[in-house]
Amino acid sequence: MLVFDKHEIRESLSLEDIYGLLQEWGGDPEYAVFGILCSTICHNTPGEGSKKLYFYENTGLFKCYTGCANSTFDIFELVIKIADIQWHKEYDLNDAVRWIAAKFGIVGTYEDSPDEEDLEDWKYLANYERIQDIELKSSEVVLKEYDDVILSRFNYDVKIGPWLREGITQEALDQAQIGFYPGGDQITIPHFDKDHRFIGLRGRTVCAEEGERFGKYRPMKVNGLLYNHPLGMNLYNLNNSKRNIPIIKKAIIFEGEKSSLLYQSYFGLENDISVACCGSSISAYQIQMLIDAGAEEIIIAFDRQFKEIGDDEFKRLKANLLKIREKYKNYALISFIFDKNMITGYKASPIDEGKEKFLQLFKERIVL
Ligand SMILES: [Zn+2]
Repeated sequence: MLVFDKHEIRESLSLEDIYGLLQEWGGDPEYAVFGILCSTICHNTPGEGSKKLYFYENTGLFKCYTGCANSTFDIFELVIKIADIQWHKEYDLNDAVRWIAAKFGIVGTYEDSPDEEDLEDWKYLANYERIQDIELKSSEVVLKEYDDVILSRFNYDVKIGPWLREGITQEALDQAQIGFYPGGDQITIPHFDKDHRFIGLRGRTVCAEEGERFGKYRPMKVNGLLYNHPLGMNLYNLNNSKRNIPIIKKAIIFEGEKSSLLYQSYFGLENDISVACCGSSISAYQIQMLIDAGAEEIIIAFDRQFKEIGDDEFKRLKANLLKIREKYKNYALISFIFDKNMITGYKASPIDEGKEKFLQLFKERIVL
């Protein structure tokens, strides 16, 4: 029969593999000195828990510092918990080991004792991609909705000067309900899920906007309530671009919200196929959302995060893009906008420097 060695599989998972899983499950992971810091998806639904689930690289074990009674566990036990909370399935250790093995393409050792069960095992592995596809679909996560009355308290008469000067139209700002929060000197960017439920609010301080071009966007805290959400479980602007993606059969993923607004401004709301992942990583869940929306080609349009061809940042960006392509090539055509001739500035989004440059980069996009 087919045997999976639980310990061997556990050892073979890299820190990055664990990070990727936590991200896929909506844990909003962060690297830390000891390993990974993650929200407590071990006993909460994504977006609910605090960052009290620790993964220790030296032991390969998780520790939950809040709700879990048995607070130390390994990746398989976490799969069992995730299966229960997010997929509404009862997994045992065997199921969890197989799920991880299938996920990372780990083939078990075949031992000579044929019985009917073996055939099932082989069938399972042969159909792995199809099964994984179903897993992805069945685990649709509905994020916590916030009361959108807060949006009516922001100021929409103040023109968002810096953004208008960069080329974003008032029409795009209006559709996205971009406003201003005087109390925090922040431009307010509401995040909606694909069904237009209000699930998060991010802010951008105005002084930083005027001074440096690439400041931080952060979840906003208003009247003591933090309006955050797991970024890997949603795509900014899909609530709007989902109308056009099935017609054009393409979707473009930018890093930042503003790039999506610029795309709408240059090409019109009726041609908008843009989304933003709000970071420089893309989760399996986000790719699945775009495939479900009708995208046959997914164009990754990340910032130019390298100074020259071949430098360390270039190598990291390239490795990251190849990994994404390797992971999702069976689900959709994945292409990249990659400014190898460096016609845009360092750290610029491909759409930051105007329509002409964007179209050139788009035309020269790489399909691997
Ligand atoms: Zn827990």
